[in-house]
Amino acid sequence: MFDELSRGLYSTDASIFEVMPLGAVAPVDADDVAAVVRCCAEHKVPMIARGAGTGLAGESLGGGLIIDTSRHMRRIVAVNGDEVRVEPGVVLQTLNFELAKIGRRFAPDPASGGTCTLGGMLASNASGARCLKHGYTRKYVSRCRIVLGSGESADVGREPIVPRGDCPPRLSEIIRSTSALLRQNERAIRTMRPATPYNRCGYDLNDVLHPDVLDLPRLLVGSEGTLALFTEATLKTIPVAGGRSAVLLGFSGLESALKATRLAVAEGPSAVELLDRRVISLLRSSDADAVRLIPTSVECALLIEFEADRPSEARRQAQALIRQVHEKERLSISAQIANDAAAADRLWRLRNQALPNLYKLNDGPQPLAVVEDVGVPPEHLGPFLTRVQEILQRLELTASFLTHAATGQVHIRPFVDLNDPEQSAKLWPLAESISTLTLDLGGTISSQHGTGIARTPWVSRQYGALYPVFVALKSIFDPHDLLNPGKIVGSTPNGTAWPLRTTHFQQHVPQNEGTAEQNGATRQSLQMLWPAGEVERQIRACNGCGHCRVESPPARMCPLFRVSHSEAAAPRAKSNLLRAVLNNADPKRLAADDVRAVADLCVNCKMCATECPAHVNIPKLMLEAKAAHHREHGLERADWFLSRIELWAAFGSRMSPIVNRLLEDRAARWVLERVFGISRHRRLPRFSPRSFLRTARRRGLTRKPSGGERVAYFVDVFANYNDPQIAEATVAVLEHNGIEVYVPPGQWSCGMPSLAMGDVDTARELAQANLRVLADLARDGFRIVCSEPTAALTLTNDYLDLIDDPSARVVADRTIELTAFLEELREQGRLKSDFDPLNLSVGWHVPCHIKALGRPPAAARLLSLIPELEVHRIDESCSGMAGTFGLKRRNYWASLEAGRPMLEELRRPQILVGAAECSACRMQMEEGSGKRALHPVQYLALAYGLMPQIADRLQEPLNCRQYS
Ligand code: SF4
Ligand code: SF4
Repeated sequence: MFDELSRGLYSTDASIFEVMPLGAVAPVDADDVAAVVRCCAEHKVPMIARGAGTGLAGESLGGGLIIDTSRHMRRIVAVNGDEVRVEPGVVLQTLNFELAKIGRRFAPDPASGGTCTLGGMLASNASGARCLKHGYTRKYVSRCRIVLGSGESADVGREPIVPRGDCPPRLSEIIRSTSALLRQNERAIRTMRPATPYNRCGYDLNDVLHPDVLDLPRLLVGSEGTLALFTEATLKTIPVAGGRSAVLLGFSGLESALKATRLAVAEGPSAVELLDRRVISLLRSSDADAVRLIPTSVECALLIEFEADRPSEARRQAQALIRQVHEKERLSISAQIANDAAAADRLWRLRNQALPNLYKLNDGPQPLAVVEDVGVPPEHLGPFLTRVQEILQRLELTASFLTHAATGQVHIRPFVDLNDPEQSAKLWPLAESISTLTLDLGGTISSQHGTGIARTPWVSRQYGALYPVFVALKSIFDPHDLLNPGKIVGSTPNGTAWPLRTTHFQQHVPQNEGTAEQNGATRQSLQMLWPAGEVERQIRACNGCGHCRVESPPARMCPLFRVSHSEAAAPRAKSNLLRAVLNNADPKRLAADDVRAVADLCVNCKMCATECPAHVNIPKLMLEAKAAHHREHGLERADWFLSRIELWAAFGSRMSPIVNRLLEDRAARWVLERVFGISRHRRLPRFSPRSFLRTARRRGLTRKPSGGERVAYFVDVFANYNDPQIAEATVAVLEHNGIEVYVPPGQWSCGMPSLAMGDVDTARELAQANLRVLADLARDGFRIVCSEPTAALTLTNDYLDLIDDPSARVVADRTIELTAFLEELREQGRLKSDFDPLNLSVGWHVPCHIKALGRPPAAARLLSLIPELEVHRIDESCSGMAGTFGLKRRNYWASLEAGRPMLEELRRPQILVGAAECSACRMQMEEGSGKRALHPVQYLALAYGLMPQIADRLQEPLNCRQYS
């Protein structure tokens, strides 16, 4: 990937830096890596290995070729007893899910475990909050396959210092020279180390050279890709703890917390976390548990966790600590105990929210990872924290602190606006002062996160006489300085040349007409409504953390990243994309094809906007990019066809006898694929000969009720033209509960299919038409109920981005999704419970747009009211259909792959049928499982005895295949 746009996507990571690489490659296997390295060696091109790009020190940034192993090299090669062999792109959480099946796990647990790769962990010698008990990654690596800077591959472990005869010549040379170097400098290696054992700065040369062997994995782990590249590793695993407990202690001051830390360490905890006042007050402002558990008088808190072989032992340790610290010494002013693993997880969740909560403060200064990795001997922690406060005051900065108290590791995040030159100029003096203070106290400038660009400038000062040994080691392995140059040793930009990631937008996207300020909102040059400066604010809010590369539940984002694992598909890339576009002086850049190609990797599921710690509104940014492309180039045929789905549906319904037959016909489907790009593999829903709106007219539902509970039903396309039984069930269930239903005539599709393709003008027209119908009803007190979650989301959310009129707000405020409405009735005791038993086992998939609506999903609770009906909640992944995305030929297989975790659950034999509120999800469920899937309201209508014909529907065979 050598185009400007792809290079831009690899120019940042989770650090505060930005360096434009020459290009990027995503090797498929170890041979690919070797080939790339040989080529780079031949042409003297620097190489930078990269995993998930979640490092905080800029260790995976550089001006050479980025080698991204996270995309394809993701195999867990073998699990043997207490060892596992992995490729570097395996994500830690994925590995631990696999290992959990045999009661084991990989011990180091960095906070980014949901996204970071094993390759990144090896490169940075990762640890985590439980470093106190489990230490660093290097302790758990027994062998690794590597590619040397020359491009030769080798399988290395504890190597004889006199290499065997079959040892490759280059490796033999490295082993001999390294052994000699380490032997000559044994004393310096032993003595020139910080006074804290929790250190990962520079090359860790301890325990590497033994009388007869050189432990190469120990040397290479933590070398940040500067000595060799990993292509596979054999790791030792540990048993999952038999019991866990936790204690949360609140203190009125730091001194008592530090005293308590010393007492806690004596009990053998796995982690001791110190939360500062700022973190606590943020937690209290956003979390009911925090309010309950941490009194307002608490200035700082300790979260202490115990792991033991048995639950009783973990419980005993926690209780002993409470007795000692809280009851006997009276150091703490509050104490909470979690006696088992589930309760400990609940307390630990508070700690895990600390950082995301900081990022919610995304206006202006951000908490920056710049001096966040220092470690001091724990006995110096008190004075260190006091003096850091003095430094911050001198520089007129504030910061938040998250401290591993027992190990003396302090994550300081100063609040700085990188785009304010006066503030960003303070970063270097801050780093210089804190690094100096740390080294004066015998500490380390990097205890967990990596050396990278952020800390290399101080490595020589930390190690003094040992630093030349680092330089000599580097030249043994990499004489031409091609492997991640400028990290750990060598010259790194520093001072005013630090490559900070600043965002200074140049001329923006093309100006439209109608850019005047209206009601405080400015259209700027964009097609959707944005408050003034909001686009820039959204883009700046993305801190590059990479949290959106998560691949496992409970997170949902991002379905397309989970299929391709490509950086371009991650939400982070889309924010980077817009940043690059707005930094570009070309006003037409937003409408370019390559921008559209990345924007098309967003299916508007809206999960990242909900789950991203900074709540960056990536889907709206991508809609804007698609809109710009549409305005300049129009729509391609498949998109044009799908954006007008209501017209085709109306036509299909009118001509249903013919169209339905054609949909079953292979040749007709082939033509549909050729002409409109709709996959011929996809079984398309049949059309109803009579639309629901016609039925509603006939039944008098389109006459406005005069009194009683006032509900207007917004039907949307699928329930209108394809499956009116859903609409009939909706009306039946509401009426059964005493609610008179009005079906307003003149309603159209919600417009999402057009909007999702970037056809903003059509979407806006549909929005205006619907608002004309719905706004007066909303003002008259009607609730607007939608059986289609996407319609509810469009009415409550997207219309506000399209229509600058109070009618959009009033409709948004009065609109509610059907199951949420029924749940409200249940909570008010107004939902009838006269259900007949249904002997069914239903797998209910939670659609993304139900989650995006922001209320607790209600369908499971409603379905569980039906006697004998068993509900299995399936909350594994997006269904993959993503509206009309899965209909397209080019997306068909990707769509099924994106929905695979959900489909695997649904296929379990104990589940008979499926349920989901979203019509696209149901289509995918039937396609991928062969099981009938209905809207929850259909089960309710059946159980109320209102629509017995639904039982026949459940028996009807599905004419579709199952995919594995
Ligand atoms: S989009 Fe959100 S989760 Fe993704 S990198 Fe940016 S801030 Fe992090
Ligand atoms: S909205 Fe969904 S598809 Fe789009 S980037 Fe976010 S998570 Fe991915």
